[in-house]
Amino acid sequence: MDKRLKYIDEIGLKGKRVLIRVDFNVPLDESNKITDDTRIRSVLPTINYALDENAKVILASHLGRPKGKRVESMSLLPVAKRLGRLLEKDVALATDCVGEDVKRLVDRMKPGEVVLLENLRFHPEEEKNDERFGAMLGELADIYINDAFAVAHRAHASNVAITRHVREVGAGFLMKKEMTYFSMALEKPTRPLVAIIGGKKVSDKVGVLSSLCERADKIIIGGGMALTFFKSLGYEVGNSFVENDALDEAKSVIELARDKHMKLYLPVDFVVADKFSADAETKVVTYQEIPKDWMALDIGPATLTLFTEAIQNAKTIIWNGPMGVFEIDAFSRGTFGLVTSVANTYALTIVGGGDTDVAVHRAGEYAKMSYISTGGGAFLEILKGKELPGIAALKDKGIAAAAS
Ligand code: AMP
Repeated sequence: MDKRLKYIDEIGLKGKRVLIRVDFNVPLDESNKITDDTRIRSVLPTINYALDENAKVILASHLGRPKGKRVESMSLLPVAKRLGRLLEKDVALATDCVGEDVKRLVDRMKPGEVVLLENLRFHPEEEKNDERFGAMLGELADIYINDAFAVAHRAHASNVAITRHVREVGAGFLMKKEMTYFSMALEKPTRPLVAIIGGKKVSDKVGVLSSLCERADKIIIGGGMALTFFKSLGYEVGNSFVENDALDEAKSVIELARDKHMKLYLPVDFVVADKFSADAETKVVTYQEIPKDWMALDIGPATLTLFTEAIQNAKTIIWNGPMGVFEIDAFSRGTFGLVTSVANTYALTIVGGGDTDVAVHRAGEYAKMSYISTGGGAFLEILKGKELPGIAALKDKGIAAAAS
C-alpha cells in the first residue's frame, strides 16, 4: 500500500475542529519577550489556509523544557499575543491543553476562530507519548494536522499517540516544504551531491556520516569533529576538543568511506589558539603541526579554498554544522567563508540545524540558500535515512483509514 503523506489541502476542513501541532518553541529574553518569531511565521500559511477554509483552528505547541510541570515563564501567552498581531485577529489562550475547561472553550468556538492550547510540556505525559493524554488531545478535534517538522523526530503524545484518536490526519504546508526538499536532496538528487558536516561531536553524527557514505558523492568534514578524526588517525591535536570515546567511530567512518570509494575531505590547516577566548593568541598551522598546548578552533584559509573548490561542481549541497567556533569572531572566518562559497554555487542548497541557520543569517546569505530547514534533530534523523515517528504516525493512520 502507498505510504504517502496526506496534506492539509487534500482534506475538507469546512466547519471542522482542526488541531494543528506547530512548533512555537520561540526564544524569549529575560522579560519574556520573543526575540525571533521565525517559527511562528513559518506556519502562518497552514493556519491561514485552515482559516480561509472556515475551520475552527486549535493550535498546540511546546515551549522550553518545563519538565512536566506548570512554569509560568514558559506559558505560551507571548506567542498568543504575537500570533494575534500576525493574523490580525484574536487568539484565545486556553488555560491548559487538556481538561474540561479546554473542552468547553473549544465547544464554543465558531468557524474562523483560533484557540492556542497552553504548553503541552506542562504535562509529563506529552513526552512519554502517553496514550490517554493523546486521546484527551484527540477529543478536541475532528482533524489533526502536524506542521511541527522540528519535533517530528520525537515520539510524543501530540504527534504520535494523538493520531490514533482523531478521525482524519494530515501534514501542513511547512512539513510539505521540508519533505519536498529532502526528497529532492536525498531520494533522487541531482548529482554530484556534496554533504558538509561540521559541529563538535562525532558521536552525534556518526550515523549521518555512515548513511551519507551510501548516498553522497563527496563528504566534507569540518568543525571540532575533524579533530576527533585526526586524533583517531594518530595525529597530535594539542588541547583541541576531542571525543575520546568516539575515536573508533571516527575510524570506522574513514574505513567505510574508503570501502565505498567516497571522496572524504578533512581540513588541511587550522586556526589554533592558546586558549578558548576572544583575546587568545592565534596562528594558522597545518593539520600535522598543532602545537601541544594549543587548540584548533576553526578551519584555516587553505581548507576554505579546498572546500570551496570541492563544492564548485556540486548540483546538490546539504549542510549541517559550523566549521569552527563561529560564535567568536576570531574563529568565524571558516564558517562564514564557506557560507559565502555555498551561496555562490549553482547547486540546490539545503541547510539545517540551529547553528548553521544562525551562521547563514549572520553572514547575510539567507536569501541565496535554496532552503533552510526548521529542523535540527529531525534534519539529522532524515540524513540518517530514518523515517521520523511523527511522519510515520500520519502515514500509518492513512493506511488504516484506507483499509477500513
Ligand atoms: P554541534 O552541536 O555538534 O553541531 O556543534 C556546534 C558547536 O560546535 C558550535 O557551538 C561551535 O562553537 C562548536 N565548534 C565548532 N568547531 C569547534 C572546535 N574546533 N572546537 C570546539 N568547538 C567547536
